[in-house]
Amino acid sequence: MRKLIPLLMLLLLLPVAALAASADMTLTPEEYGFTYTLQAEGNEFVVLIWEGKNETGRRTLYSENGHFEGRVELPCTGMGGKVTVTVQNLKQNRLASKSITLPEAADYAAPTGKANATVKDLTLEETPQGFRYAFTAPGTDYMMLYYRSKQESAVFPVYPVDDAGRYEGEVAAPLTYCRTLFTVQVRNAKGQQKDEATCRKAWAIPAMPEAREGRLSGVVVCIDPGHQENGQFVREPIGPGLSGTTVGKGGMAQGKVTLRKEDIVVLETAMILREVLMAQGATVVLTRDVQDVFHTNIERCEIAEAAGAHVMLRLHCNNSSNQNKTGIQIYCPLNSDYARAVASPEEYRLMGETLMNCMKDAVGYERKDGTGVTRLNDNYIGNNWAKMPVFLVEMGYMSNVGEDIKLATPEYQTLLAQGMAEGVYQIALLRGWGDAAGHAD
Ligand SMILES: [Zn+2]
Repeated sequence: MRKLIPLLMLLLLLPVAALAASADMTLTPEEYGFTYTLQAEGNEFVVLIWEGKNETGRRTLYSENGHFEGRVELPCTGMGGKVTVTVQNLKQNRLASKSITLPEAADYAAPTGKANATVKDLTLEETPQGFRYAFTAPGTDYMMLYYRSKQESAVFPVYPVDDAGRYEGEVAAPLTYCRTLFTVQVRNAKGQQKDEATCRKAWAIPAMPEAREGRLSGVVVCIDPGHQENGQFVREPIGPGLSGTTVGKGGMAQGKVTLRKEDIVVLETAMILREVLMAQGATVVLTRDVQDVFHTNIERCEIAEAAGAHVMLRLHCNNSSNQNKTGIQIYCPLNSDYARAVASPEEYRLMGETLMNCMKDAVGYERKDGTGVTRLNDNYIGNNWAKMPVFLVEMGYMSNVGEDIKLATPEYQTLLAQGMAEGVYQIALLRGWGDAAGHAD
């Protein structure tokens, strides 16, 4: 009997614990969508998930104070019907769940006519918004187009563009992350699959930000988004003054739940970092702004040198077999001739830890909580060949569910970028670069 008491107490405590982890959610059904307000104390990021008959989706939301509100568009739910909405925290625990019934939209008209034929020549083309499709289904009045990605799915009628039963059009899938795979099916009116194909969402280079004056005027930053979509293995000497050669690792981290790959996450973050740095006056050069390119590690250093960069930031994401592992890591070179010409190990460590503190402050990690490690070593070719201060920044662990979800979002990428920009400014003060030194260059 004695042993039962603690168990009983635990059972009594459970509802309280569950309540503490819950969120207050209000949903208002509307035509073609719903609005939500959500109070989830202590959560900067939550994942909103909705499931209706014709479409599903998930979106990561960010708020500094745990209050979230907005509208979800459901363009394929004109006939109305039940939609279940769930909110999860970054550990994928359910904070709230509710079902609502959407009204039939005033302008909704179900498609009519013949919608069954042999489908021929289904082709897909990547676009930055989603994909372009084309197929032929002779003698039909409409067909149903279905797609799904890791973030969303939808099914809706499409209509022929000519009398020969030729179909073509563009689909925007705004929730789907760049380079994520789409599976696309053409279905008949009964929902039976007639053909299927796949493609990815395309990468489009964001417009070049306007050059500005600011506290980083006169400072040249080289951003090196690590990896590329089609990695190659190239043997290169480890570093000047170091013996041996090594093959740069082609392996990349991949998101535990998003399945996103490191090469695209670092490229997206690099573009945001460019914007943040340029808004503060810096001149920015990138080692790559596309996915389909190949630069070896030494070539990346040469790009930074040719640009006259004061500093090189090499963006990467981490991976560990321990899925609980989180945090930032910064690597600096130690013994290469170029590293020694740049700074003493003590100076390098100071710069690395300065950058680390700025990044931890920006993303909300405590400075002393063990989520950040700064190391000096000879392990990285792309560090050893840099003739300017270089920092390999592992921005987070894609093997951790929460960091994977965060790293995929532009809001978290922006926090990281702001932290790195602050770090560049602090290092510019230390080193006396540009306007940061108190005089124009
Ligand atoms: Zn990497």
